[in-house]
Amino acid sequence: MTKPIFVTQPYLPPLEEFTPYLQQIWDNKILTNGGPYHQQLEKALCEYLGVEHIALFSNGTLALITALQALRVTGEVITTPYSFVATAHSLHWHGNKPVFVDVEPNTLNMDPAKIEAAITPQTTAIMPVHCYGNPCDVAAIQKIADNYNLRVIYDACHAFGVEDEGGSVLRHGDLSCISFHATKVFNTFEGGAIVCPDAKTKQRIDQLKNFGIVDEITVVAPGINGKMSEINAAFGMLQLKHMDIVMQRRAEVDAYYREGLKDVKGIRCLPQTASRTRNHSYFPILVGEDYPLSRDALHQKLKDSSINARRYFYPLISEFSMYRGLPSSAPSNIPVATLAAQEVLCLPIYPALSGQDQSRVVDLIAKF
Ligand SMILES: *Cc1c(COP(=O)(O)O)cnc(C)c1O
Repeated sequence: MTKPIFVTQPYLPPLEEFTPYLQQIWDNKILTNGGPYHQQLEKALCEYLGVEHIALFSNGTLALITALQALRVTGEVITTPYSFVATAHSLHWHGNKPVFVDVEPNTLNMDPAKIEAAITPQTTAIMPVHCYGNPCDVAAIQKIADNYNLRVIYDACHAFGVEDEGGSVLRHGDLSCISFHATKVFNTFEGGAIVCPDAKTKQRIDQLKNFGIVDEITVVAPGINGKMSEINAAFGMLQLKHMDIVMQRRAEVDAYYREGLKDVKGIRCLPQTASRTRNHSYFPILVGEDYPLSRDALHQKLKDSSINARRYFYPLISEFSMYRGLPSSAPSNIPVATLAAQEVLCLPIYPALSGQDQSRVVDLIAKF
């Protein structure tokens, strides 16, 4: 049996490097509720990412739900069907109705040209996704939001460390939410955050993620428990020290695939966006009609050789039973996303992926 190649694998620093952090927690016996590691990680992430205010969460989904609560979003929210299911689920949990619009073929991000037609008197917000860490057309989205007085909450769960000309992409919109799940570029096992524009907004979000508690006798909102624990925050502090090598290795893997697959007929790599800094969080290819195998057949062939690629995002969110009945879920409303979901395959990409493993992937795809 050949050694299996995973689609993703978390970066784990040497175990002994984590021991002093654990010792510290054992010594001071503060396990959660905004303890010292929580405070340190918020500060360190602000510096690393180049943003002003961050509120840590126990995961990205609770960050999204709390962002909606913080901005008092009601009614309909325009979003993309081409994402992880948590994007629409967060709207569902907050009592909002998702309205799906189509994506652009080059980024698979929400197509700003499709937003206006989806706006109704009930629309109060837009929730775009920086899919695969490629920035949305933030200027076009903001212009529409300003014209119609809509809030913008970015699901930036893929966009850790991504920068455009002006700095971190996480500064865009009213709020940006990010995930530190084990499968993401930067992980705290489970975790997430909201990037917010000012101290007042952060204070409200900090209350909302702690049951809405303000002080011993005051609760101002029906908040949730979304706090990141000290053990996750401590791991984040350690992980942050290794981000240079993580980013560098991911960039190398990306470059190798791009070069190796560029002449394979029927295989299209998603173009690199103009971002100043990319994070190479995923490596999606589109298996076109002129490739000898269907996407699903290629997926199976890879699997037969112990190579795990992932059909990500397939099915579309709009195809799941809880969203299928919405008028905006009709495939005719979202043709670009529908085609992408049939063609996409995300190849293995992570720091420990060896050159030998990568050539196995490329050779197999090129063989047909
Ligand atoms: C990972 C992810 C989420 C959810 O984040 P969790 O930390 O797993 O809750 C939401 N949206 C997108 C696009 C994601 O990739």
